[in-house]
Amino acid sequence: MAIESINPATNKLLRRFEPLTDNAARQKVALAADVFRSYANVPLDHRALWMRKLAAILEHEVEDFATLITQEMGKPLEAARFEILKCADTCRYYADHAAHILAPESVPTEPNHSYVRWEPLGVVLAVMPWNFPFWQVFRFLAPALMAGNVALLKHASNVPQCAIAIESLVRRAGFPRGSFQALLLEVNQVETVLSDERIAAVTVTGSETAGRAIGAQAGWQIKKSVLELGGSDPFIVMPSADLNLAIETAVRARCVNSGQSCIAAKRFIIADEIYDAFESRLVAGMEAMRVGDPMKEGTDIGPLATVRAVELLDAQVKAATRVGARVLTGGERMLGDGNYFEPTVLAGVPRTSFVYREELFGPVAMLFRAQDLNEAIEIANDTPFGLAASAWTRDPAEQQRLVAELQCGGVFLNAMVASDPRLPFGGIKRSGYGRELSAAGMREFLNAKTVVIASAGSANDATGKPYLLSATDAPATR
Ligand code: NAP
Repeated sequence: MAIESINPATNKLLRRFEPLTDNAARQKVALAADVFRSYANVPLDHRALWMRKLAAILEHEVEDFATLITQEMGKPLEAARFEILKCADTCRYYADHAAHILAPESVPTEPNHSYVRWEPLGVVLAVMPWNFPFWQVFRFLAPALMAGNVALLKHASNVPQCAIAIESLVRRAGFPRGSFQALLLEVNQVETVLSDERIAAVTVTGSETAGRAIGAQAGWQIKKSVLELGGSDPFIVMPSADLNLAIETAVRARCVNSGQSCIAAKRFIIADEIYDAFESRLVAGMEAMRVGDPMKEGTDIGPLATVRAVELLDAQVKAATRVGARVLTGGERMLGDGNYFEPTVLAGVPRTSFVYREELFGPVAMLFRAQDLNEAIEIANDTPFGLAASAWTRDPAEQQRLVAELQCGGVFLNAMVASDPRLPFGGIKRSGYGRELSAAGMREFLNAKTVVIASAGSANDATGKPYLLSATDAPATR
């Protein structure tokens, strides 16, 4: 089936591509494997130079790349510009910090000399989504290339032009031919590529369905995988919070990227004491969002990225109302050519319903009333997902409990959840496993090679005698 780039604001076809044949894909894998042998030995300073050049090109051509993103997946132009600049920042972060992250780590094991040597794994396959078509790729690409890995990208089928643009700009930055290649593939070709023995590992950002399928294939192949999957992040507000800031952030956190972000706040859990005030102001905030042409400055929410996405969201909202949810505002697809959906607030979604346990990937907020902090935490954790959480309170004791008891990969107190190249990003439960960004993200695709250089007469020298940390660590029975 052809891979089509369609403008979601008009549903007009922009470009059509034929997927690679299996044979052509194999040739690209071969090129990647071949390049890896020399690329891994390119001095770090040299890679950092290319990475900085990459950042400079992104910044210099921000308008072109942002326009491409907006045309291909519909996010407001301003958000697309921000996405490109964040990619540039991340390239610089890894150019600046790779030497430190990759430095051998000496471990005192006297009298031996021991250290950990960080080595790239080889060719890493990245299966990526459309919602941040540059950022999702760059947050993998920058640490991978800096570490000496090479990469193949199977991008979402609705953003082929972004995939091609990224490959070309990596080349223009100076990285060797074949170090980063976009493969225009159909979903059913991913397994074939992954099973090629020259592929060392895979990273997936996408839905649970994709993660489950590829994670299982990687497990079967005994290949390292990182899964960054969906989320239904809670946004908890307690009575001591700065209510004005919390509400303003709540609207932004739900509508970021037209509601299509894994870390968008999706479930709003509000303390009983402030619930009514919060509800009416959240509704007003959602109604004030400007929905429309994403190319127009000032638009807050564009169309959803595909017809399928808007149809799914519509079906989920209808399913919620069928089981008793109340629509406080919005709730409908908007008329016209594009995939627009009204900013929506739902209250009273039963926690026993299917839709409660699903991710709503669009501008639809679900509101819940909590009697106290115990109930707020209980609702927050009552989800199959565990990506991140935003919690609003000025009470230090409540803050401590939230940090300790929320089951997720990141807790943001009095702040909106956001990714940051300096901090690990990822989830637990069905939001996936592994981390991106920071040193943790870079090390996912590295071999922590233990090196021990024995000194004569040491406890674990060539005689293979067991090693004891110290006499006091010895079991009592000895
Ligand atoms: P998706 O449908 O899972 O697609 C993601 C990628 O996986 C696409 O390249 C897709 O290819 C591919 N894919 C889908 N099913 C596959 C399968 N069975 N085998 C191999 N490849 C498969 O997800 P999406 O709708 O594009 O993205 C939205 C989802 O991503 C949401 O759930 C969101 O929360 C999640 N997400 C998570 C994070 C995170 O960091 N945790 C970040 C962003 C988004 P095709 O396009 O060709 O189908």
